[in-house]
Amino acid sequence: MKIENGKVASINYTLTAPDGQVLDTSEGKAPLDYLHGAGNIIPGLEKALEGKSIGDSFEVDIPPEEAYGLREEARVDVVPKSQFEGIAEIQEGMQFQAQTNQGPQIVTVTKVEGDQITVDGNHPLAGMPLHFKVEVTGIREPSPEEREHGHPHGPEGHDH
Ligand code: ZN
Repeated sequence: MKIENGKVASINYTLTAPDGQVLDTSEGKAPLDYLHGAGNIIPGLEKALEGKSIGDSFEVDIPPEEAYGLREEARVDVVPKSQFEGIAEIQEGMQFQAQTNQGPQIVTVTKVEGDQITVDGNHPLAGMPLHFKVEVTGIREPSPEEREHGHPHGPEGHDH
């Protein structure tokens, strides 16, 4: 069996930034299950996995355009502290859900300067080329329920 649209694949992976820092890994955890062709994972990784078989392992470099997108400066905004009602102290690195023109969005506080709070709505990995080391550990047909939901369910079955 090969990985193709509509199959559930299990992968072990390690994601590293251009400077070699490990950003995420399945090491020490269960492999990641995803439904191929359903957009469960970033497009560049999905493309690299197409046609692979169990036991295949490879490394791939993925440009930002096929990962978490390019950074958009329009998503960076400076807002007055008074907009953060009920929060005693705003600190860099805090994340909030904000209402934007594109709907609800997670923003990260990137700078606090007196009453001026800089928030960034870009994904933390936007603009970053990513390097993946991947091993395919399983391929199977999805259950009818998984197919309907567009994502795989864990060993305990349906939990949402
Ligand atoms: Zn589901």
